[in-house]
Formats: sequence, structure tokens, C-alpha cells
Amino acid sequence: MIHLLEIKTEKPVQVVDITDQVNGAVADSGVVEGICLVYTLHTTTGIVINESESGLVQDLVRRLSSLAPPGDGYLHDRIDDNAHAHLQAVLLGSCQTIPIEEGCLVMGTWQRVLFVELDGPRRRNVLIKVVPS
Ligand code: ZN
Repeated sequence: MIHLLEIKTEKPVQVVDITDQVNGAVADSGVVEGICLVYTLHTTTGIVINESESGLVQDLVRRLSSLAPPGDGYLHDRIDDNAHAHLQAVLLGSCQTIPIEEGCLVMGTWQRVLFVELDGPRRRNVLIKVVPS
């Protein structure tokens, strides 16, 4: 089963907690045991699993900016001036795979599924595929 999650971001860089939507897609699928793939369809966004604490979110944004700062002489900036966002997305990765047991995502107490916008604001699509096992 495939579910397409639409996200409208509002800032240039924004972390969106999509855990509830992913769990909803798992529930809708009826799959009790399996895996769930969460996959962004864009090259300037990332999907991570981590804590959604506001200070940590700000730390993440700040560190990504220091690792791949905007306007650092990138060749891709000649095309659309967003090379830093692509490079930050590479650091985060484009998908996560999460086990499903008893119809729910198996996650630790503080784990959340986070969509990371790196070149917003834009309309974005995240694919959620639930696979029974
Ligand atoms: Zn680009």
C-alpha cells in the first residue's frame, strides 16, 4: 500500500514532525506486521528519525548550516542558487525504514519521524509505503 503525504512548508528551513501521519498510514493499511518506508520525493529535503525537542531542532538546523553554508562558491549555484540545500539533504538522507509490530511503528520513547525542509517554503510530497511480512 502506498500513501502520499502532502506537506506545505512555511519557512526556508523547517523540521516537520510527521510521526502521527505515518502511523495513520500504517493503521489505514491494515498491516499488523511488516515494514514502513518513508521516502521524500525531493532533492532538497530529508527524512530523519530523532527527537523532536525544540532546542535540538534548532541545533540541527544550525549545524547543517555550518556544515554546508549557503553561497560557498558551489558550482550548482549557477543554476538555481540552492546547492547548500542539496548538500544538506545528502547529509540527512532521503528515506527511513521502520518496523511495524501489532499494527504500529516500533519506535523508542523519544523517536519521531521528522521531515526536514531545506529549501522552502514549498509544497512537498512524502511517499509512505507499508509492506507486510
Ligand atoms: Zn538545485
